[in-house]
This record gives sequence, C-alpha cells and structure tokens, in this order.
Amino acid sequence: MFKNTAIFIITLFYTGITMSQSYEFGFNNYIEYQKGTLPIVLSFPHGGSMNPAKIPDRICSDPVYATDAYTIETAMKIKAALYVATGCYPHIIICHLDRAKLDCNRNINEGACGNAEAMTAWNEFHDFINTAQNTANQNFNNKTLFVDLHGHGNPVQRIELGYLLYDHELELSDEILNSDKYINFSSIKNLVNDNVNNFTLAQLLRGPEAFGTLLSKYDFPSVPSQQIPYPGTSSNYFSGGYITANHTSYASGVITDGFQMELNYNGIRDTEENRTKFANAFTKTIIKYLNTHFNLIWNPCSPLKATGETYFDIKVFPNPQKKGNSFFLESTTKSFSHFKIISISGMETDNGIISYDGELILKNSLKPGIYILVLINFNTGERYMTKLISE
Ligand SMILES: [Zn+2]
Repeated sequence: MFKNTAIFIITLFYTGITMSQSYEFGFNNYIEYQKGTLPIVLSFPHGGSMNPAKIPDRICSDPVYATDAYTIETAMKIKAALYVATGCYPHIIICHLDRAKLDCNRNINEGACGNAEAMTAWNEFHDFINTAQNTANQNFNNKTLFVDLHGHGNPVQRIELGYLLYDHELELSDEILNSDKYINFSSIKNLVNDNVNNFTLAQLLRGPEAFGTLLSKYDFPSVPSQQIPYPGTSSNYFSGGYITANHTSYASGVITDGFQMELNYNGIRDTEENRTKFANAFTKTIIKYLNTHFNLIWNPCSPLKATGETYFDIKVFPNPQKKGNSFFLESTTKSFSHFKIISISGMETDNGIISYDGELILKNSLKPGIYILVLINFNTGERYMTKLISE
C-alpha cells in the first residue's frame, strides 16, 4: 500500500547548540513518530481520537474500546520536561486512531480485525518502535529504556508497572523471583543480567532503587515498589501486554529493557497541572533510574545533576509584555544567571545576564509576537524554557 510519509523539522537554537526534532507520520497520519535523541523510547497506543468511517469499529476477538484518556497530553508534558532536564527529546510513538478502530497492544489479527488500513497502521506503529529502539541503542551502546504508557480505570489510584509478571507471581519470595525462570519471564531480563550494582530481579522490581520506589518518592504511589511490593490478586493489576512482550528483552532478539506503565486518573491525567507535575516526577525518576542501573554515557544529552529541582513553577512577569525592556523572575527562581530570547522561527533576538534581583534587561524592545525565553544557570547547566508573549 502507498505510504504517505511527511517529515517536518522544528529547530530550536539554544545555548549555541542546534537542537532539532523531526516527525514522521504513517498512512493517513494515523501513527506518529516523534524522533528523539535520548536513550528513552515511549509508546502511547490507546490515547487516539481519530475515527475514520472507512475503518469499521472492531468486532472481532472481544474488543476493548476504552480510550486511555489524556495519555497523549501527558506524553507532551513528559517530552517537555525531559527536554528541559536533558536538552534532548525522547522518542515518542503515538497511535492517533481511536481504540475502536485499532488496538496496537494486541496481535495484528485481534488489533486490526482484518481491515487493511488498520493493519498498515498496526505495522507502522510497531516498525516505528523498532526504529526508535535501534536508533537509541546504536547511539547509547545498547543502553535504552522503553516504556509503553497507558491509563487504567482500576479503582485504586496508583501507578501499575507491568514487567510481564502476574499479580500472584509478584507475591513470590525474592529467592524464587530471582530464579532464571522468572528472570526470563520478565521484561527487564537483560538489565537483571547486566546492571551496574548487580541488583537482582526482586531488587529491580521492589528494592530501594526500583523504578516504582523512586517514583513513589514523588508522591506517585506505584506497584511494584518498596512501598507496595505486590498489587494483590483481586485488583485487576495490568502486568503488561502485547507491546511489552514484543518490544522488551523478554522477546528473543530484543536488546531493550522496559515495562508497561499504567497511570491512574486522579492526580496524574485529570488536569494540566497534574500532568505537568507527573511529567516532572517521571523525568527525575527515569534519569535517576538510568544513572543508577544503566552505566550510561549521556553525551550529547546532559541531564541535570540536581534532580530535586522543579522545572515548571517559574513565573516571569509582566507576561504578556505590554511595552518596555525588562522582565522579572519570581524571587524563588534566581538561580539562573543568563537568558536568551528566541523567536518562534528560531532566531535569537536577545540575550543577557540576569541581575541579582531577578531582572532580565533586554537590549531591544520585543516586537509583538510569541517568543521562547530560555533561562540558563551556567554553573550547573540547568535551563528552563517558557513562552513569552509580547503585545
Ligand atoms: Zn491502554
């Protein structure tokens, strides 16, 4: 089938480096691949809202139609937070088709129900994940983490991490879980066999440095974790689906480790503020996780050392700017030393030093328009980007 592929390039100039991101779309824009440069690959199969009439609603194999609400919006917050924290973007693969039309977390027969367009989209979704993982693994010496992100509707408001181990298996003792049998069942098989601290599977699932443990510390309760070692056998816990089983080291020939992540609704996906809060916590967690276990050389990306920082609470005023040549930062955000102002076409229009009382003095008045303000701490490498409007 003819493939409609469009590539768009967005380029941002910042701290002297040209950061670019390109997008690739599959047939009819059903599947989107936002190409990244981080060793992080994220997929979002169930947040889509496109409902083309020519693809009939699925009726084969007892289909589930539920949309994972606001997961694509959450994806964009995660992308922004990772960019601010590292100067690089993650790889993101999104299915824009409504789940009634296509379910990429099922095998192709059940997920596309024999429809040719849906099958094309299904193949593109999985091919994009393979491309993203291969690219990241080539650039980062096979140290890539994959997360398949969902939203769950279970009543207990906690994040469910699926490593392909069932709820009752997570109740097994550490000793039994650490046997080859369960290591080989898991989606982090390669990591268990080769990680910086020689942590066991049980430690990587629910030890002090497990992903769920780290995320729980930011007030996002997660299971499994040190805090909640197993979900119980009557909570409808999601242990991981087709995507996790086929794009992690559980599958033969796949190098990349990963897991499925099911986000609860309240406090994570429900408001823009909470999506931002979660994106910051996810960003700090994944950086800490990679630094702890993966022996990763981040270059050319550069994650912040100070993972206790919050990136998105910075207020600049007046904004919108009416007339004048200066802005002020809130008193809590004075750790930045320099600033740049970039037009939306990527041109740097101003730059300078931030004064001790948080004032940014511009060399030129801003013409009316939308700009990106980049704040930089030259000592720590920390940076922050926010939108500026001039009227
Ligand atoms: Zn889902």
